[in-house]
Amino acid sequence: MNKNVRKAVIAGNWKMNMTPSETKKLLSELIPMVEGKTGCDVVVCVPFVDIDTAVAMTKGTNVKVGAQNVHFEKNGAFTGEISADMLKECGAEYVVIGHSERRQYFGETDVTVNLRLKAALAAGLTPILCVGELLDERDRDVTAEVVAMQTKIALLDVSAEDAKKVIVAYEPVWAIGTGRTATAEQADEVCGIIRSVLAAKYGADVAEAVTIQYGGSMKPGNAAELLSKYHVDGGLIGGASLKASDFTAIVDAAQ
Ligand code: PEP
Repeated sequence: MNKNVRKAVIAGNWKMNMTPSETKKLLSELIPMVEGKTGCDVVVCVPFVDIDTAVAMTKGTNVKVGAQNVHFEKNGAFTGEISADMLKECGAEYVVIGHSERRQYFGETDVTVNLRLKAALAAGLTPILCVGELLDERDRDVTAEVVAMQTKIALLDVSAEDAKKVIVAYEPVWAIGTGRTATAEQADEVCGIIRSVLAAKYGADVAEAVTIQYGGSMKPGNAAELLSKYHVDGGLIGGASLKASDFTAIVDAAQ
């Protein structure tokens, strides 16, 4: 199947950056710069408090809004948490799930990632499911096993129809925010492994339809090479998404 049947998705992960007024400034620069660039979907995953501003500013544009996490319960005594229905009603369309910073600093596990992913799907949000190995795991040659396990557990009890709606982001933890990028060959190889896990579970048609992004220090200077690879259908971009010109250059590389 031709890679072009899959929609490329370039998503920015702003992490804990940008107040609402800074969101206004960044989006007022970004929106005109990416206007008309329909060769990929353009998403900004913003802090919860910026969702309202981002949704209002991007209305009628080609920029879509996502959140960076979601709780798995519908409501209740979970102080400080945000539900999928809340995100949906605020106008978010995407949500990052299982980012390595959530796993590393906030104790998220493959099991809670699975619960969050199912809650997101049930609310009609598009999950951006992050998987990826630690440096130690790569050095010990267990990258394939680690990403396969993370992907399989995240998708437990998820139907084939729903699996097609999921975006998977392969993010080697050693490449996130470090300036150290996986080579295009490494990225393609692991995205291919993820696709074969999807094929084993759901069949080739589903596996070929799923968008698999690479994330980890993607920048204007390396985006085109990474995105040229068969299994790399887009990018999840941290640092470079905070500068409109850099993020636009990555969107350009995906056209
Ligand atoms: C990320 O936060 O998902 C990420 C890939 O960050 P960076 O691009 O800064 O490495």
